[in-house]
Amino acid sequence: MELTIAQKLDALLKLQSLDSQLDELIKIRGGLPEEVRDLEDDIAGFETRIGKFQAEIKTLEEEIERNRVAKKDAEKLITKYKDQQMNVRNNREFDAISKEIELQSLEIELVEKRANEAQFRVRGKEEEIKTTTAALNERKEDLKAKKQELDQITSESQEEEKELIKQRDEQATTIEARLLNSYKKIRGNALNGLAVVMVKRGACGGCFNVVPPQRQADIKDKKKIIVCEHCGRIFADVEGVPEPAPTGRGR
Ligand SMILES: [Zn+2]
Repeated sequence: MELTIAQKLDALLKLQSLDSQLDELIKIRGGLPEEVRDLEDDIAGFETRIGKFQAEIKTLEEEIERNRVAKKDAEKLITKYKDQQMNVRNNREFDAISKEIELQSLEIELVEKRANEAQFRVRGKEEEIKTTTAALNERKEDLKAKKQELDQITSESQEEEKELIKQRDEQATTIEARLLNSYKKIRGNALNGLAVVMVKRGACGGCFNVVPPQRQADIKDKKKIIVCEHCGRIFADVEGVPEPAPTGRGR
């Protein structure tokens, strides 16, 4: 059965009212879900960083250990060379061994320097872990609070939202597909989510541009679907009696 234009407009207006109520619910819930997601991303990022620092510390500690072993080896060699020096047969042998001892002493200096540098870098990484952990814990606290807030708001509005979605979906089935598509398209483009509006005090209820009196009369007649020539929103009706267009209005 084909609906009259007035019935179609009425159905659209009801749909708009339900969608607006849903928009309002979602607005009350606000940016919380996004905030929660951002915090979760931050936390994951900090945890990755801490993991990286820990891996770097492990590598540095391995380097320190290698240097410790190298130092011990060099010390052993020096002890061995000093024993050999006791039994040399001539100065040439003595000098050759002295040179070896000197080389090993230099090696010890080098590995000690390397170990100190690595130790210094370990302390730097530990400091970074400390700072990052503090930031991480702060975010975790924030997340806990935001989640609680979100849970509370969500559970409060969940039932209401379910019911509204049910009603909205039912209402949508009463509207022909082509019209419903236009409605969705207009709504998608409108910042305030309004696709169907009233003419209020001579102006479009969506964009507030002036609607000429003759057009207002046509809207009230409901012989055809009329959209705002400025914003494309569908006019459902005119509130009160059509008024002459106020001058100097419209944005
Ligand atoms: Zn408009």
